Amino acid sequence: MKIFAFFLFTALVLSFPCISQELPDTPVYALSSETGKPGETVLAVYFAPVPPESFSLHLINNKEQVVAESRGFLYEFTGSYAAAVGYIGLPSTLKPGNYSIQMEAATMEGSVQERRLFTVTERKFISEEIPLNMEMSDLRTSDDPRRYEEAQQLLELLYTFNPGSAFHTGRFALPVAECPESSHYGDRREFIYIDNETSNAIHNGIDFAAVTGTEVHACGRGKTVLVQDRFITGNTVVLEHFPGIYSLYFHLNSIDVEPGSIVEEGEVIGKVGKTGLATGSHLHWEVRVSGVPVDPYFFIDSGVLDKDEILDMISEESIQEGG
Ligand SMILES: [Zn+2]
Repeated sequence: MKIFAFFLFTALVLSFPCISQELPDTPVYALSSETGKPGETVLAVYFAPVPPESFSLHLINNKEQVVAESRGFLYEFTGSYAAAVGYIGLPSTLKPGNYSIQMEAATMEGSVQERRLFTVTERKFISEEIPLNMEMSDLRTSDDPRRYEEAQQLLELLYTFNPGSAFHTGRFALPVAECPESSHYGDRREFIYIDNETSNAIHNGIDFAAVTGTEVHACGRGKTVLVQDRFITGNTVVLEHFPGIYSLYFHLNSIDVEPGSIVEEGEVIGKVGKTGLATGSHLHWEVRVSGVPVDPYFFIDSGVLDKDEILDMISEESIQEGG
């Protein structure tokens, strides 16, 4: 009997490796990092034996102002266990210093929250001057209502959070092969118009210099949520990869995907061009997290979501709380 019990116990432990030992029976909050640079993304996790109905995140500065906010959703990370996960994108405009991240979970019994200190470290951005010819000056200073309507539409789309849209969890891939960067994420730009007037803007994505016709590939699996010829960004494609996470492709010469379709990582979605406001042929590639433009290289280096990372974050946090 003892031998049978031993084998049964061993079989159970082997079929649920680490889960019985590491998943806590009290609620746990965890952040992927306590510090970050502008442009990076922070993963927040809430795990409780009874999963919450909603999970929200706020990045708060030392004047108690909310500087970024987002939502989370229930993600099944192992067997039948689900954790609430959400991302905060750190805007490129954040000043270094002390912030906090507030995590709030709504349950049947009311809402519970936890606030953690978070440090934003310094990141230097490049300044660049961009002279515009007559046509581009006119385009950028135009007060055509189409421009504002399209900007509003795109923002609404990028703030849309669909909990069921976890299409891609691994690393992103570069959308064009071996093309030099002509502008970087977060560049501080000064546009110089034909009449020598100027205006300032922040570059929210990466520009890859590539000849017209170069294939543009989906950086990850996703759903085509926007295919449009837009006033400023020209032929444009937006892919939804994960709840709140989108990639954007501007100035395409042609588009090879239909709206509402699912594309696989690496699939050709269009060709490089210079449609819209572009001083030459290039691809503008951008990644947004809950509306915040983030550094696309973050998801190339570390991936969107790793189930093992969630498990590690929960078990590390519960050990710390237990000890
Ligand atoms: Zn660009």
